[in-house]
Amino acid sequence: MRRASLLLLLPLIVAGVLYALCAPLLEAVTRQRIDANLQRVDARLLDDGRLHVLLCGTAAALPDPDRAGPCTAVLAGGQFILIDAGPGSWRVLDGLNLPLSRLSSVLITHLHSDHIGELGEAIEQSWIAGRKQPLDVYGPPGIEDVLQGFAQVYAHDVGYRVAHHGETYMPGAAAPARAHPLAPPQGTQAQRVFSAGDLEVSVFAVDHAPVDHAYGYRIRYRGRTVVISGDTRPAESVRVNARNADLLLHEALSTRFTERAVQRAAALGQARTAKLAHDVGDYHTTPLQAAQLAQAAGVKELVLTHIFPPLPNALARHLFLEGTREVYSGKLLLGEDGMRFDLSPQE
Ligand SMILES: [Zn+2]
Ligand SMILES: [Zn+2]
Repeated sequence: MRRASLLLLLPLIVAGVLYALCAPLLEAVTRQRIDANLQRVDARLLDDGRLHVLLCGTAAALPDPDRAGPCTAVLAGGQFILIDAGPGSWRVLDGLNLPLSRLSSVLITHLHSDHIGELGEAIEQSWIAGRKQPLDVYGPPGIEDVLQGFAQVYAHDVGYRVAHHGETYMPGAAAPARAHPLAPPQGTQAQRVFSAGDLEVSVFAVDHAPVDHAYGYRIRYRGRTVVISGDTRPAESVRVNARNADLLLHEALSTRFTERAVQRAAALGQARTAKLAHDVGDYHTTPLQAAQLAQAAGVKELVLTHIFPPLPNALARHLFLEGTREVYSGKLLLGEDGMRFDLSPQE
């Protein structure tokens, strides 16, 4: 009987001894993880004299398991700018260990949902992270309606957080976004949006009809130029404004895939899907067209983004890029979430 009790107790004794040995180790690991998380933000990219571009979302409108919705981050000269805030992009941004409390402005290319779906979170989360003044958001006419809507959606949340943490730590006056509707630029010429020190941001019109106002942006800093096409058919304005650019982020949709989808949907009796798949192909740019445009503009590096359809394997990626390297002699990359480009000054 006594022997049986001892046998029953043995596992408990062993577990107790193991816990006693492991507890300090667990405590050390926990402390190390918490400290690493508290110290992970790297603000050096803001002010190291270079122009930094990070991809925080490279998908198009349909959910893609490997990519967040359209989002690009630019950090230079003390400015932290987001171009578009597609669904899922805040999680990618957070994983890049950027100084999110220093987000200074957002440039919206157009008001399709895949470009503004996470704008509310960008406004709210940057405030929670410690943003100290209202966030400037630039975009086409209508951006003021979008911001008004998000302000209404988040009003209760803002109130709860101010009440919980107090105005000192969570100032309500810093929570909102300020709308800056940009008048449609005429022709192919870019118009200045703002400049801050050596950093200059310009906007130009692109062709995404029936979207009435769709924009691309050009950012210059210390002799370097980055151009973001936004959503567009092949556009002369992109070619003009990306002339000799160091980096062109151009949207890309493969009609090779969408046309096949149209055929298969029709064959399967899915008329509505066939119609939508056909429509989506008529106001974007194919990878080959983007490569031809980059070559004509003398762009030094082309990064394809706003990737459609999702590319789940190497064969799909190969077919997506097929022919591009024959028409473009610069460096060409298929954009991936988390990619980063660091451009040193060239003055
Ligand atoms: Zn889009
Ligand atoms: Zn669009």
